[in-house]
Amino acid sequence: MMSHQSAAEFHNRYPYSGKIVCEEHNTSFHRQVLTSAKGSKEVWQCRVYRNRGRAACSAPQLRTDELNEVMAQIFTELVHDKQTIIDALVAVIQSVPQEHDFARDMERLESEAEQINAKKDRLLDLSMAGAITISEFKTRNDGFNEQLTALESKLEVIRQEQQKTAATTDNLEAIKTALRHELDFTDGVNSELVTTILDHIIVKKVSTREEVHLDIHLKVNGPYEAVFARSKSSFCISRLKSTTPPIRSRRT
Ligand SMILES: [Zn+2]
Repeated sequence: MMSHQSAAEFHNRYPYSGKIVCEEHNTSFHRQVLTSAKGSKEVWQCRVYRNRGRAACSAPQLRTDELNEVMAQIFTELVHDKQTIIDALVAVIQSVPQEHDFARDMERLESEAEQINAKKDRLLDLSMAGAITISEFKTRNDGFNEQLTALESKLEVIRQEQQKTAATTDNLEAIKTALRHELDFTDGVNSELVTTILDHIIVKKVSTREEVHLDIHLKVNGPYEAVFARSKSSFCISRLKSTTPPIRSRRT
């Protein structure tokens, strides 16, 4: 589990990279880490603002934690039929062990072992009849025993795999709980989910430092419009009917 996670995390460290667009300049927002006495925070800034300053671009910088909150709200809306999604995912998990027929693999190995044992019996018969020398018997008998040992260790691997699969099935309840928790977004939003589902975010021209207007385009659904007033920490997220922006007066 850990090795998968670290690989995925490496690719998804910055799920907003290249996905935030300044409407005014049609340029992407770049990541910046601001450090202060309070600690560091990750923000995103229009490239024009970054190169030429506030006079050149009025789009506010966006904090990653704000974006995460917006995404969590959108996901919550997307996943309103949470139980259906969980059931579908659990069905997928349950179908995996059935794809592998452990019993058939074990039967095949056991029949190979039987054949080797039959050969050993014949070898012993030959030896007792004086048809082969003792040393010839020993060499060939040792060879058969090595093959049997190899088969036994293969069988052991399969037995262990089978037990693991059984454990996974036993853990289904735990998996369901984990999925329910993941889809609650109470611990924030999973960056892999953002990477998978988010196509791009447009930072609207009407945005100010106090009130941010975003059009959020998902790969699966949407687009959504998010408006949040920073002073009131209020969020408003709605499904956009059309991508044409409504006319608004600019607040200063
Ligand atoms: Zn800009």
